[in-house]
Amino acid sequence: MTRDLKRVLVTDLDNTLWDWFSAWNASFSAMLEALEEDSGVPRSVLESEIRILHQKYATTEYSNLLSEVPSLLDAAGGVEPWRAFPRAVEALRRERRERTRPYQGVLESLSALKSAGISVIAYTESLAYWTMWRIKRTGLDGIIDVLYSAPDHDLPKGKSFERMRSQPEEAYALERTEHQHVPRGILKPNAQVLLTILDSAGFKPQEAVYIGDSLMKDVAMAQEAHVTDVHALYGEVQQHPGYDLLRRVTHWTDEDVERERRYVGVARPITATHTCRSEFAEVLPILGLA
Ligand SMILES: [Mg+2]
Repeated sequence: MTRDLKRVLVTDLDNTLWDWFSAWNASFSAMLEALEEDSGVPRSVLESEIRILHQKYATTEYSNLLSEVPSLLDAAGGVEPWRAFPRAVEALRRERRERTRPYQGVLESLSALKSAGISVIAYTESLAYWTMWRIKRTGLDGIIDVLYSAPDHDLPKGKSFERMRSQPEEAYALERTEHQHVPRGILKPNAQVLLTILDSAGFKPQEAVYIGDSLMKDVAMAQEAHVTDVHALYGEVQQHPGYDLLRRVTHWTDEDVERERRYVGVARPITATHTCRSEFAEVLPILGLA
């Protein structure tokens, strides 16, 4: 297979185009710290109640979180917790906004690919709402041709996103990137989703390159689909000291957490065909660009 046959890059988003983990870790930690101080509920109690909610809604970014944490409802004494603990909400929003930025070289590299006639498709397991927000925030609306994401989580009866969000729905939608949904609950490394995405966009697997930061999910999926795989090693964060907080409150099962530990440990069960060690731009030669 020669390099100049590549016509499309399919890219993971979180920790491949931007550092999702650092933004999540900084914003979630700041929120927890303020919650503990202002509510008097110990952090360990908050964390374990939050994990149950994250597992219930299958996300680590549940928009209605504070209103459903039992010990915060008690501590707030009849007021909505997000009103009772405004410092926590402000800290979460501020850190998330400030730390959500594309990795170095991402905008330039994707623009170079598009100028060379190569399509850019994004595929993420993250939910629609925060994915759209991050694409806009990082300036990637329109640079990504098509986004495939999971649909949003459901909200409790009587709640709507419109009431929880401060702006009308149009403010959150992407203006130039086309947005498609993958079926809920189908997760990487299921190769069928990647093959379906390529097929619906009119590409053959051998015309595609796939890049992502997870060996266990991204690289395994691309290999299974016979798509040229690239490991975004620069985005791997499992050795980061803050990663244990994510493990404690994640929606993943204990078994998933353990499996990931093994994949990033010393004996890596999967070897990537290509690796971007220090930055995203290293993907360009794999697509035939200098
Ligand atoms: Mg990722």
